[in-house]
Amino acid sequence: MTKTPAGDTNSAVAQTFNELPLSETTLEALERARYLSPTPIQAGLIPRALEGVDVMGQAQTGTGKTASFVIPILERIPAKSSHKRPLALILVPTRELAVQVRDEAVKLAHGRRARCVALYGGKPIRGQIDKLSRGAELVVGTPGRLLDHISRGTLHLGDLQVVVLDEADRMLDIGFRPDIEKILRRVPRERQTLLLSATMPPPVKRLAQRYMHSPESLDFSPKDIAVETIEQFYFTVDPEQKLDLLTKLLAREQPQQAIVFCRTKRGTERLYRQLRKKEKHVECMHGDLTQSARDRTMQRFRKGQVRLLVATDVVGRGIDVTGISHIINYDIPEFCDDYVHRVGRTGRMGREGVAYTFVTPDEGIQLTRIEMRINRLLERAHLEGFGATQDAEKSDAAAGTNGDGPSADGASDGEPKSAAKPASPLAKRRKSRYRRAL
Ligand code: AMP
Repeated sequence: MTKTPAGDTNSAVAQTFNELPLSETTLEALERARYLSPTPIQAGLIPRALEGVDVMGQAQTGTGKTASFVIPILERIPAKSSHKRPLALILVPTRELAVQVRDEAVKLAHGRRARCVALYGGKPIRGQIDKLSRGAELVVGTPGRLLDHISRGTLHLGDLQVVVLDEADRMLDIGFRPDIEKILRRVPRERQTLLLSATMPPPVKRLAQRYMHSPESLDFSPKDIAVETIEQFYFTVDPEQKLDLLTKLLAREQPQQAIVFCRTKRGTERLYRQLRKKEKHVECMHGDLTQSARDRTMQRFRKGQVRLLVATDVVGRGIDVTGISHIINYDIPEFCDDYVHRVGRTGRMGREGVAYTFVTPDEGIQLTRIEMRINRLLERAHLEGFGATQDAEKSDAAAGTNGDGPSADGASDGEPKSAAKPASPLAKRRKSRYRRAL
């Protein structure tokens, strides 16, 4: 596998879409979408994908990665396609992402006859079968529903030219591996495979090795995983004070739009019920809601009609809503990657964003792990009326520090934000503690 950092793929990285070998139709669609210049992943991935090579790209959402694989697919679809069976298949982990990728493909397919269908669970299968029977060049779907269609004989993969595995790490995380393998075994060997993943753990690499032809590995992940433009803070708080803290924080911050992340579906429901008594335009989102309720909420959130979305990690990945000014981790995420994905919902396309994480006294170690993962110390935030000093001691004790973290009044300026700079004693201590914790 060849590994190339982003930007090194071609000596001259395209600054405009005109510099990429794209058709007039695509250039017009891009102009119509008001995409003025390619993002780094688009400049890097599009030319390689157009050449037909298999690519394994490390990239986060919010970087324009969807267009980077959708555009080369669209360029393959003949102008007067009379094809009934899909030429391209995009596998995604969640229903929301399936809808989002489909919408992006429809937008970029403007001016050409390319029919794109999204196949995902929670929706009656009948309508999807009807659409497939009318013909679809591009199919995007979640693995379970795709397999359902395959076994019913309503989805035929024999003509596929391109397969995309989007958010491959997430698909493996949530146990889609057997389904993905079943699907990949059914697609023609002679095809192009593009794999996109925020992280490249060994299971993702193994998947790539088994199902890709000499993949080229491109790294589009920012050096500092937590996007530069996002300010990240944490509060130490006792569990019974969380709601109070949230209410005061919302009153102080007046977010344009915020996602308040909880760990469980029940916790999400509970907080939603409490919060809607105090705040306007609150809705919630979790896996127990019907798909149509989820779709409605997402639509209203995108339009800015929902200001506060209380959610589980079901919206942690891939969801792109530009109005999100704040991320609040009401419950600290269990997995570090979920932190990266949650926080990545704000600060989209270079905008500014802020993330607050509530840390209870016995969650210090989770905070430390997150800081190790993002290579940066979160800054301690403070709100009057909360027993910060006492909490700090408890939290630091739980994390095993001596309480010398960034101070409550934000006087952490002296601390290096990234371990790329000389590591502070604190960062070093956190690192060794982290290793022990593993
Ligand atoms: P993604 O990383 O694919 O979720 O894309 C994030 C957002 O960026 C989506 O709203 C896209 O429509 C938008 N986008 C993608 N490429 C560009 C571009 N070149 N210029 C401006 N916006 C873009």
